[in-house]
Amino acid sequence: MQKSLTSSIIIPEKIQQDWQNMLNVLADLAKVPAALVMRIDEDNMEVFSSSSSNGNPYIEGHKEPLNQNLYCEHVVKHRHQLIVPNALKDSKWKDSPDASLNMIAYCGLPLFWPDNTPFGTVCLLDNKENTFSQTYQQLLKTYQQSIEAQLSILFQHSELLKNHQRLQQEIAKNNKHINEINTKLANEIDSRRAAEQKVEYHKNHDVGTGFLNPIALYRHMDKLINTNQQFVLLHIHFANSRKIQQEHGHSVFDLLLTQYRSKLTKITDTSVTGRLDSSDILLIVHADKEKLPQLCHHLSEIGQASFSNNNETIHLQSYIGGVHSKDDASRTELLQCAYNTVVECQNLGKTFTISDRSLPIKSTLSEHRIEGYLLEAVRNNDLFLSYQPKVCPYTKRWLGCEALLRWDHPHLGSISNDVLIQLAERNGLIYELGNFALRSAVQQTSEWVLHSPSFVTAVNISAVQLKDPYFVQHIQQLLELYNLPAKNLELEVTESGLIADEALAIDTLTQLHQMGISIALDDFGTGYASFQYLKKYPFDTLKIDKSFIDNIEHNSADQNIVCAMINIAKKLQLKVVVEGVENMNQERFVSREGVDIIQGYLYSKPITSDKLEEGLFNQSSIGSPYFQFM
Ligand code: C2E
Ligand code: CA
Ligand code: CA
Repeated sequence: MQKSLTSSIIIPEKIQQDWQNMLNVLADLAKVPAALVMRIDEDNMEVFSSSSSNGNPYIEGHKEPLNQNLYCEHVVKHRHQLIVPNALKDSKWKDSPDASLNMIAYCGLPLFWPDNTPFGTVCLLDNKENTFSQTYQQLLKTYQQSIEAQLSILFQHSELLKNHQRLQQEIAKNNKHINEINTKLANEIDSRRAAEQKVEYHKNHDVGTGFLNPIALYRHMDKLINTNQQFVLLHIHFANSRKIQQEHGHSVFDLLLTQYRSKLTKITDTSVTGRLDSSDILLIVHADKEKLPQLCHHLSEIGQASFSNNNETIHLQSYIGGVHSKDDASRTELLQCAYNTVVECQNLGKTFTISDRSLPIKSTLSEHRIEGYLLEAVRNNDLFLSYQPKVCPYTKRWLGCEALLRWDHPHLGSISNDVLIQLAERNGLIYELGNFALRSAVQQTSEWVLHSPSFVTAVNISAVQLKDPYFVQHIQQLLELYNLPAKNLELEVTESGLIADEALAIDTLTQLHQMGISIALDDFGTGYASFQYLKKYPFDTLKIDKSFIDNIEHNSADQNIVCAMINIAKKLQLKVVVEGVENMNQERFVSREGVDIIQGYLYSKPITSDKLEEGLFNQSSIGSPYFQFM
């Protein structure tokens, strides 16, 4: 017989006692020697409870193996009542083990668990012939039901217990799983934190040498300046850095700088060091005026000392320029001064120089150096645009703006556009500068026109750009890329841009004009053949130069020239823009003459794209305002 799960259910002592009492009563009533509850397992039939009546041969706990023709096994197997009145007269039962105990009469009923697996039997046995009348059969049936009811309760209890255990196991398993997840999560958080720290380190440091990078160093300087803390800024230039890098490679030079840095920290533990570029580092120290020369002396000693690389000795050659922080000196001014001092130091052949000049000092930089910086700025995206609003003098609404290039250099400060553009035109960087200005302006304007559909941004175009045979195609691609309608773009060209190659310039500007881009003649009046150009080229706008406006209040010649220019422009149906208007008198004069647009500090200086957007947004939300961003 297959082992069922119910076979492991234990019958409590209290119930066993009940069954025992019940069997005693049953045997007594039926006047038989044995009343039994039998329990079956896969191999045996066990006397589970046995009445304590006289002549009962069955002993509690006795087990008889199955398959030897036991009455009870038959009852369980057939799941049915069995009555044997006299086994001695019945060939089927006369050799059964029960008959050999002299129990020749039998009446038994099966007992089942609620899941229909067998428990055993309840039965009466007699040592003489017995047909077990209906009354006893009924009595036995009642006992069977009562026992099965108790089995049912035990079964449910056992199920509950099993479920409870399963639940406990599940909870333990889940707890284990949660613990594993927690550990994994903690590991992940740790490794992420480590990665973040690494990123943070990379963000602030020159990875090859461990020096702070310029951004982090400038941030530190700004903090000191903003909290009025005194410090000394030392600019250390390694004159032979290029040579070392060429002969031994960049990584070796980085290694030398790392060694240099560790020597540095031994002599000034309060310093902050940063690497400016491949040959220059900056040091911020908090040293007294008296002690500074001694410190610089030490620094130059380690700056000239020998460093070892694979048994080879390499010397660094350093120059040091120092400057004390001063009230009101900006970071840019301090950097510029330290830089100039180190250049001076090198020119004079000294090892260190402390600046005693007042800030800011005039730059003595060669064009060659500025060129180098400009190249870096273009490649590093250090340039940006500012935007000067173009205003309708009658409604004061911002109708458009002019995009103007800006470049703030840490050493050189703000560089004037005139110097910048001329330089870039000479060395060919104007293509990159021009493309940068065009792309940034087109991208920016494509956002503004979503709110202000008629807003026009003007971009300055250099003579060199106009010579580029792919210029029209390039602009077309930009407009498509940023989805900007051509009518929202204006190009400002100067007469100098037109002289170079007239035929090409006319062709290029005509194509652009036909695309719907507005063409403006900039700085009108400053060239010498201005009026002729107005007929030849497809201009839409004329910009009267600031130099005519500067003295317009007091100079009647300028007044006459401006009036004449406005008149001619009107006759040629050109829009007139006046630039450089700084006061109300100038505004009154030119608006009386009927100019269309005014651009000047009176309304706003060139401002950031965010500020321009803010002004535009306010203008469209409250009607016709009069904004000033000064
Ligand atoms: P511009 O095209 O004549 O630009 C107007 C210049 O006058 C701007 O100087 C502007 O800031 C200044 N300005 C405007 N209103 C006033 C005013 O009321 N008072 C005074 N004092 N100045 C005023 P900025 O930005 O220095 O530009 C100088 C020149 O650099 C520009 O002269 C333009 O020729 C050139 N430039 C600027 N950006 C670019 C560019 O992206 N590409 C090219 N090729 N040239 C550019
Ligand atoms: Ca311009
Ligand atoms: Ca101009």
